[in-house]
Amino acid sequence: MRIDILTLFPEMCESVLSESIIGRARANGFVEIECHNIRDYTEDKHNRVDDAPYGGGTGMIMQAQPVYDCFGALCASLGKRPRLIYMSPKGKVLTQQKAKELSTLDNIALLCGHYEGVDERVLEEIVDEEISIGDYVLTGGELPALVLADCISRMLPGVLANEDAFTLESHYSGLLEYPQYTRPAEWHGKSVPEVLISGHHANIGKWQHEKSLEVTFRKRPDLLEKADLSDKDAAFIDTIKNSEK
Ligand code: SAM
Repeated sequence: MRIDILTLFPEMCESVLSESIIGRARANGFVEIECHNIRDYTEDKHNRVDDAPYGGGTGMIMQAQPVYDCFGALCASLGKRPRLIYMSPKGKVLTQQKAKELSTLDNIALLCGHYEGVDERVLEEIVDEEISIGDYVLTGGELPALVLADCISRMLPGVLANEDAFTLESHYSGLLEYPQYTRPAEWHGKSVPEVLISGHHANIGKWQHEKSLEVTFRKRPDLLEKADLSDKDAAFIDTIKNSEK
């Protein structure tokens, strides 16, 4: 898969994308991520990419022309038009499910706004969808684009050593992950649950699944309403509820 990031701050994105798991995945060709400087496409002789908002108001607005031409150049170089996602606090809030869907595409492009945002006309003309990383406002779309690129990339084959690493994690199946422990088996007077050192895989699996249900019930009960629960799962949750009465 290839992800293209359209930004005024490509170095900011590169510094994150060249590190750790994603940096290695890029170096090993499991994901291609390229950053493009929108400023390189401005026709303004002073290299400006923003101007004051019509109608007044504070801050500056990114102009349509450099954004439009940057995306046009990307389409021309790819020989196709990638799905263009504008990172925006007005977008639908990102979920694991959405990232999973996007990870099946060959190409996507992420547009990062800055200042007070981007001229609406170019958004209307080229953007396919808007994604927010939460109901709060950041100074720019770079961190949101990096969040989305990271979340998608780690689900691509080869990026993590083992697919279990993400399929068993919080949100993938609609539940939160069970608690995890590592050595030593005893720390500050607290022991690791017996079952985890029993070596009995079926019991461990059952414990992990039940803990996953319990953690979701306690921390994010809203997720249980949308989760695909078996009758056995529902009965288990009823047991927890009844034990608290
Ligand atoms: N004036 C805009 C508004 O009120 O909706 C906010 C602009 S924000 C200061 C600048 C840029 O940061 C946006 O164009 C967007 O690309 C990005 N951004 C800010 N918060 C975001 C969020 N929660 N999710 C995704 N992108 C965000």
